[in-house]
Amino acid sequence: MPQRFHDTLRDAVVPFSPQEPGHARIYVCGPTVYDYPHIGHMRSALTYDVLVRHLREQGMKVTYVRNITDIDDKIIGRAAERGEAPMTLARRFEDAYHEDTRRLGLLEPDIEPRVSEHLEQIVALIQTLIDKGAAYESAGDVYFSVEAFPGYGKLSHRKPSDLEHGASGRLDAEEGQRKRHPADFALWKGQPEGASATTWPSPWGPGRPGWHIECSAMSTHYLGASFDLHGGGLDLVFPHHENEIAQSEAASGETLASMWVHHGFIEVNKEKMSKSLGNFFTARECFRLVEPEALRYFALSVHYRAPLNLDWTLDDAGQVTGFPQIEEAERRVEYIYSSRARLEAIADKRIVDDGEVPEPLTDFARALGEALDDDLNMPVALARTAEFLKHVNELAERSKGKKGKVARQAVTAAREGLERLGRVLGLGNDEPQAFLDRVRSRRAARLGLSEADIQARIDERTAARGAKDFARADAVRQQLTELGVELMDDPGGTRWRLP
Ligand SMILES: [Zn+2]
Repeated sequence: MPQRFHDTLRDAVVPFSPQEPGHARIYVCGPTVYDYPHIGHMRSALTYDVLVRHLREQGMKVTYVRNITDIDDKIIGRAAERGEAPMTLARRFEDAYHEDTRRLGLLEPDIEPRVSEHLEQIVALIQTLIDKGAAYESAGDVYFSVEAFPGYGKLSHRKPSDLEHGASGRLDAEEGQRKRHPADFALWKGQPEGASATTWPSPWGPGRPGWHIECSAMSTHYLGASFDLHGGGLDLVFPHHENEIAQSEAASGETLASMWVHHGFIEVNKEKMSKSLGNFFTARECFRLVEPEALRYFALSVHYRAPLNLDWTLDDAGQVTGFPQIEEAERRVEYIYSSRARLEAIADKRIVDDGEVPEPLTDFARALGEALDDDLNMPVALARTAEFLKHVNELAERSKGKKGKVARQAVTAAREGLERLGRVLGLGNDEPQAFLDRVRSRRAARLGLSEADIQARIDERTAARGAKDFARADAVRQQLTELGVELMDDPGGTRWRLP
């Protein structure tokens, strides 16, 4: 069954069929690096991470390009405030972005072009548009003429009358006078009079490229004039992606991307999370309180096109103390690791050649693939994962006891399923005990409990049981339960966790 994704252009879920069979060429708008990435950036990167992982798992070759916007007015403005060179600031936040995406277990794109290294392609594309009559120079700026591109508005499904107002996010009165049509947008911005802004040379004088043209130049430079899938947030549909289509298609005469896949926002009280609204959390603030993988699980728990609502808790001083939904997601991730640990703990002598092979174990690959083929339905993929994990745990349970035996084929299927979960959803790739220990330590610290003290009490209970002083052993267990400590008695000893 072919993959089907929601295409904004056709406003429908349609089959995904790469122009070159078996090879998907994908471009995703990356971050503008002027600050630490917030968790909305992480949701964006994660959506396409799972898309690319899934296509590869289905045997497709994927060329995944995600850019770094390191030339932008926000970067130039922030650098000026701090008395720092724009490129120094941009590189620092690019590094921070990479660090956070690594912690989240995101695949690196195959190509990650920086705007600052593609001025030549940008200038050439602008020149082509001028030569074709689709762009014009005006007082040191160059604008795209929306009237020269009849398809303008086809992605955002807007009528030309809608475009008269507020078409450009950066429209000011002065700029308005330089444009022929209010919806025309800047391809090249000349240096403002008297300003000492950072500029690059061009045939129209020093200046800097507009944001939209950057993506058009980089995507087509690496993927060709027409590629298979373009991604980004819903907020980019208009004007950014509409303008990318206009520029690229006016220059090449070809369809820029066969399919446009957009993801929803992270919302807070039904408002988009954004710095300007003050309801903004960086990825690293979140990672201070929960495992990065918990954020991954949380983001996968809602369909990628739906808004993801976020709650948090504050202390009396107004400091963020937690993210209840992400903490809940962390318990689900913990279940993946404890399942893996239990599976790995099945002793060889318990594994036999015959025996029951539960279908949910052998069927997991198909179930996961089917969920993601269906417009990347990640919540269904997680539901299938939960079902699979339940059977992994039942298998581990059956291996215990005096006569416990499990089928080799079932153990193999469980192992392969967990590996697949790691490859496709990027979950459970850490070392299980390391993950479980980190989570437990953080929870203990938050509850003000000493891990050494808990272990000492467990040792006391073990000694009491050894001496057949069961009343004492039960009393210690009761104390620990009251502290919120859960004990698990295994053949290898007593383990503990903080749920
Ligand atoms: Zn872009």
